[in-house]
Amino acid sequence: MLPVIALVGRPNVGKSTLFNLLTGTRDALVADQPGLTRDRQYGYGKLGAIPYLVVDTGGLVDDAQGVEQLMARQTLRAIEDADRVLFLVDARAGSTPSDHHIARNLRRLGKQVIVVANKAEGLDATSAAAEFYPLGLGDPQPISAVRGDGVRALMERALEDV
Ligand code: GDP
Ligand code: MG
Repeated sequence: MLPVIALVGRPNVGKSTLFNLLTGTRDALVADQPGLTRDRQYGYGKLGAIPYLVVDTGGLVDDAQGVEQLMARQTLRAIEDADRVLFLVDARAGSTPSDHHIARNLRRLGKQVIVVANKAEGLDATSAAAEFYPLGLGDPQPISAVRGDGVRALMERALEDV
C-alpha cells in the first residue's frame, strides 16, 4: 500500500501549490481566492524511488460558527485515511486563530502531523518555524512551495517510518 500524505490547513496557505509541486502537475487550482479547492484532489508523488499518494484538501474554512465546522466532512475523511498529515501554515502571516482551531482538531484526531511553515523564502528559517511551536504539534518544518526550498527534507521526514 502506498503511503498517503494529506495536505491540510486554512485557505491560502499554499496547499495546492505544494500539491502541484509534489505531483508535478497543475491539477490543483491555485488562486489568490481562498477556498477555491472544493474537493479532494489525489495525485502521485515520488521521493527518489519511493512513491506516495498525496491528497490536497480545501475543506478547512475559517467559520466563526464553531470549531467543529472548521473541518468539512471530506477533509476529515482525507485526514482519517492518511498516514501523515502535513498541516500547512503561512510563515509570512504568522499563526492565526484558525490555525489554532485546526491544530486543536488535529491533536484530537491523534494523527501523525507535521506542521509546515510555508512561504518561508527570504525569512529566517529558524524563527519562521519557531512562531508555530505553540500550535503544540511538534517541530515546524520551514519550506517555500513556490521555490521548492525545504520540500525534499520535508518529504523525507514525512515518509520516515510510514
Ligand atoms: P491553498 O488555498 O492553501 O491551496 O493555497 P494556494 O496553493 O492556492 O496558494 C495561495 C497563494 O499563496 C497563491 O497566491 C500562491 O502563489 C501563494 N503561495 C503558495 N506557496 C507560496 C510560497 O511558498 N511563497 C509565497 N510567497 N507564496 C506562496
Ligand atoms: Mg487549494
